[in-house]
Amino acid sequence: MIDEDVIGQIRQTVRQLCADFPGSYWQEKDRERAYPSEFVQALTDAGLLSSLIPEQYGGAGLPLKVAVAILEEIHSNGCNGAACHAQMYTMGTLLRHGSEDQRQKYLPGIASGDLRLQAFGVTEPTAGTDTTSIATMAVRDGDDYVINGQKVWTSRAEYSDLMILLARTTPKDKVKKRTEGLSVFIVDMRDVVGNGMTIRPIRTMINHATTEVFFDNMRIPADSLIGEEGKGFRYVLTGMNAERILIASECIGDANWFTKTASNYARERSVFGRPIGQNQGIQFPIARAYAQSRAAGLMVQEAASLYDAGQACGAEANMAKMLASEASWAAGESCLQTHGGFGFAEEYDVERKFRETRLYQIAPISTNLILSFLAEHELGLPRSY
Ligand SMILES: Cc1cc2nc3c(=O)[nH]c(=O)nc-3n(C[C@H](O)[C@H](O)[C@H](O)COP(=O)(O)OP(=O)(O)OC[C@H]3O[C@@H](n4cnc5c(N)ncnc54)[C@H](O)[C@@H]3O)c2cc1C
Repeated sequence: MIDEDVIGQIRQTVRQLCADFPGSYWQEKDRERAYPSEFVQALTDAGLLSSLIPEQYGGAGLPLKVAVAILEEIHSNGCNGAACHAQMYTMGTLLRHGSEDQRQKYLPGIASGDLRLQAFGVTEPTAGTDTTSIATMAVRDGDDYVINGQKVWTSRAEYSDLMILLARTTPKDKVKKRTEGLSVFIVDMRDVVGNGMTIRPIRTMINHATTEVFFDNMRIPADSLIGEEGKGFRYVLTGMNAERILIASECIGDANWFTKTASNYARERSVFGRPIGQNQGIQFPIARAYAQSRAAGLMVQEAASLYDAGQACGAEANMAKMLASEASWAAGESCLQTHGGFGFAEEYDVERKFRETRLYQIAPISTNLILSFLAEHELGLPRSY
C-alpha cells in the first residue's frame, strides 16, 4: 500500500518539473516534429520513469497507481508523456517473463536511464488490430534468430536502444490455436540498425516520433528470446493492461487541462458585455466533460487497484482507456468551442492538445475493439470477428 501523502508529494514534484516546460516549448517541438529530449531527460533525472522497476534492479519499486498519478499530472499541466511513457511500462514484459540473466542485464540500465527501452513492435500494416495475423517471422539458425518482416507505428524507435518485438516463430497455419506460435524478443537496436533493421519515420498529425521498421535477414542472438518460444502472445497481453491504464491516466490529465483552460477562458473572455462563461451553452459542455472525466477517473483508479493487487483487470483496463479517451475528447471539443477562433491559434495550445488527445480513441487499441471485448467477455455475446 502506498500512502496518499506520498502520491501527493510525487504529484507536486511533477508539477514543479512541468513548470519548466511551458506551451511555447511544446509548440516549438510540435512545429519541428522534434523529440522533447530535455523534458524526457528531466523526467529521467527525477527518477520518475523508473518508478515501476523493482528496487533490486535500481528502480523505485512503486505500484502502478503512482505511475498513473505521474502521467496524469504531466498531462494536467499541459505537457505530454507520450515521448517516454513506454520507458515506464515496456520493461514489464521483461520483468515478468524474462530470465534473471536478462533482467540483470537490462533493468538496471533502464532504471538509470542509460538504456532506453521504449519501442514496442507489435502492429503490422497487413494485420492491423488482428495481432495473431502478423507476418514477421523469426527463424532459429544456430545461435541466432533471423528475422524478416515489417512493423508499422513503432513509436520512439529512433529514441530507443532496445525494442520489445513480437514475431511469429511458427506460421499461423501450422498452429492449433492462432494465439500460439508467437514469440517475444528483446532486440538491442544498437547492434542491428543499418545491419538488418531499417527505421523510417512517419510524419503524422501529432508529434509522436512514430516509425515503420523493416527487418531484412536481421540476426539477433538466440538468448534475445523472452520466456518460452511460442508463448509470446500471452506475455504481451499482460503488459497491455498496464499500458491501457497508463494511457487512460494521460487522457484524464488532458481532460483536466482542457476543462481548466476552457473555464479560465470562459471567465475572462467577454462578448456582448458579459463573460461567455455566463452562457449555459458554454458552461454545459465543459461541465458535462468534467463529469465524464471524473467518472472515467474512478474507472482508472479501480483498474490500477486491481492491477496492483495482482488481480484480473482486462475489462477494467479496457473500460478505463475507452471512457477516459472519450472524456478527454469531450473536454477537448468543449475547450476548442469555448475558445472560438482563438482555439485554432497555435499559441493557445488548444489545437495541439486537441490533435494529441484524439489519438487515444485509436491507439493503443481502438474503441470498437474494446466494445467487442466487453460484449464477448463481459456480456457473453458471440464473438463478432
Ligand atoms: C501515433 C500512433 C502510435 C502508435 N504506436 C504504436 C507502437 O508503439 N507500437 C505498436 O505496435 N503499435 C502502435 N500503434 C498502432 C495502434 O496500436 C493501431 O493503430 C491500433 O491498434 C489500430 O490498429 P490499425 O491502425 O491497424 O487499425 P485497423 O485494425 O486497420 O482498424 C481500422 C478501424 O477498423 C476498426 N475495426 C477493425 N476490426 C474491427 C472489428 N472486427 N469490429 C469493429 N471494428 C473494427 C477499428 O476499430 C479501427 O477503427 C500506434 C498507432 C498510432 C496512430
